[in-house]
Amino acid sequence: MSDDDHPSHQDHPPIPASPQVLSGICDACGKEGVDLYKVSLGKDFFNRTYDRLSHTEDLHPKWFCSPCSLEKGYQRDVRSIHQELEKLVANGSSLLSEETTLLHAISHVEKIEKYVKKGRKIHVLLPPREVGLLLIELQQVLAARLPTEDTQH
Ligand SMILES: [Zn+2]
Repeated sequence: MSDDDHPSHQDHPPIPASPQVLSGICDACGKEGVDLYKVSLGKDFFNRTYDRLSHTEDLHPKWFCSPCSLEKGYQRDVRSIHQELEKLVANGSSLLSEETTLLHAISHVEKIEKYVKKGRKIHVLLPPREVGLLLIELQQVLAARLPTEDTQH
């Protein structure tokens, strides 16, 4: 007898393994009859709690299918990196001021870009364009701060 989040849904058969899995319609892509995952508040790329960045609609947890929940995590990373990039460009004070963090952010966004490019055709949560633009901006920032005498040609 364990009380879970859905005491009124006892008619569902017991679900093995993950307690966060339900079957139904994905809130992002609208796919039906898929396993769903509740995307809870977590940590963003900078290890900060996601809650600080959330928009009003994010206060209501949604249910996503597996690819969409992965994409949701990427969306969160892209948005928080973008936010820090804007701060960096505006006044130079940002978590991306650290070059190692900046490099890490670039490789992470590169990974996300590969995912959105080769992945599914539908990207409800994370437009590939948004990722591509962020990557370009990050690379420009990096290029601008590399010491000119040490460029490799
Ligand atoms: Zn989905």
